[in-house]
Amino acid sequence: MDEEYAVGVDLGGTKILAGVIELNSGRVVGVAKKKTGSGSNKEVLPRLFEAIDNAISNANLSNVAIPKHLGIGIAGQVDRTQGLLLAAPNLGVTASLPIVNLLQERYKIPVGLGNDVEVATIGELNFGAGKGQDNFLCIFVGTGIGGTIVNKGEIYRGTTGTAGEIGHITINADGRHCGCGGRGHLEAYASRTAITRTLLGELSRGQASILREILPREALPEAATATSLAIRSKQIAKAVEANDELVLRVLGEAARYLGYGLSSVINFYNPRRIILGGGLIDAVNLFFEATVRHARQEALSVPAAHLEIVKAELGDYSGIVGAALLPQFKI
Ligand SMILES: [Zn+2]
Repeated sequence: MDEEYAVGVDLGGTKILAGVIELNSGRVVGVAKKKTGSGSNKEVLPRLFEAIDNAISNANLSNVAIPKHLGIGIAGQVDRTQGLLLAAPNLGVTASLPIVNLLQERYKIPVGLGNDVEVATIGELNFGAGKGQDNFLCIFVGTGIGGTIVNKGEIYRGTTGTAGEIGHITINADGRHCGCGGRGHLEAYASRTAITRTLLGELSRGQASILREILPREALPEAATATSLAIRSKQIAKAVEANDELVLRVLGEAARYLGYGLSSVINFYNPRRIILGGGLIDAVNLFFEATVRHARQEALSVPAAHLEIVKAELGDYSGIVGAALLPQFKI
């Protein structure tokens, strides 16, 4: 069989990752990365095009193997029927953007559009930890916490397309404010953003931590430019390796809340498998294991006993692999 290729793009809050994927094997044959940056629609598009162009040229395909189609997964709200990326300030998109048309005009191939969690799930379903499974949940811990329900091999979307929003289940009545306007939601306690905020808060109160050595000076709370997203998963992993007391305590608390959230969906949905992904899960095994332990302890014993909780297998590439499959995926 001739090899067929497609382009997959993962447009996230911090980076744009584009890749050329061999469709039968899921193999990534060329990849390119750009910072998403900030600005306006005018500034995001050139960066997006550049990442795609670079991925195609890095793939070094012969002329016969032009990519068959292109798929894009976006960390923001999309309108699939109109092919629009709705305003997403964290991506520098200030008004809705006809992203499907723009990409079609430039690359002259069919274009599929989805959100970041859904494309990562399609990647895992076809070539990762969901392969051969038809009843599972995919949960990604990152800037927020997103989830997808796969039922009978298809993504279950619910009445308004919002099913799987595990990041906004309530784990603490009257608790912390969440980005959605609600209170006490899971992602306000266990996302990388929440963990970062807590760590920076503790550092600004003078708590001792090796993070002061690991983080660049401008990321520390005393710097005027410090932002709440300044701590990366790899930096947290380094602090864990050094047995840093503060980081271990904060991660332990986040894992407990994440475990509570998972136990609620285990009891309610009774899945066969939960696939956990995202940078922090990938980089810090201790965080993954503590989460699994709490989830199993809190869940009812029968569903917990018939459940596997595993790590996502495609890591950073789950989004681009799934996006490349998007135009041919039954939605
Ligand atoms: Zn919320």
